[in-house]
Amino acid sequence: MRAAIEEGRRALPACLPNPPVGCVLVRGGQIIARGFTQPPFEYHAEPMALSQVEGDLEDVTAFVTLEPCSFHQRTPSCAKQMIARRVGAVYVALIDPHPRNRGAGLSMLRDAGMRVVESFLTEEAAPDLEPYLHKAGA
Ligand SMILES: [Zn+2]
Repeated sequence: MRAAIEEGRRALPACLPNPPVGCVLVRGGQIIARGFTQPPFEYHAEPMALSQVEGDLEDVTAFVTLEPCSFHQRTPSCAKQMIARRVGAVYVALIDPHPRNRGAGLSMLRDAGMRVVESFLTEEAAPDLEPYLHKAGA
């Protein structure tokens, strides 16, 4: 997760207004792909990392600083793309407070049989992300 947090820091300022999310994919203890939020209409962190590896990823664990998006906005849902690639497990630092996500992304992953660990290293990821997350009523 610390590597994912580092990746997220590379996203600013180009990613705005999207939050600066970082993602790494790990197989056998090695990082095999890295991603961070690209400018609007381009890759989110997760599909950027997924684009760097081929085939099914049942033996891969994804570390993502923010819950993958469950809904199609400017780009297709990241949760759907992770399910399509059969990612085996995902560790998430923060739940996305966006009213259209808020746990829905994690539910999709769990329903697809993925092992989901939430609130992983939340305190370390939060300072980088919280200022950019959707605020209730904003
Ligand atoms: Zn996304």
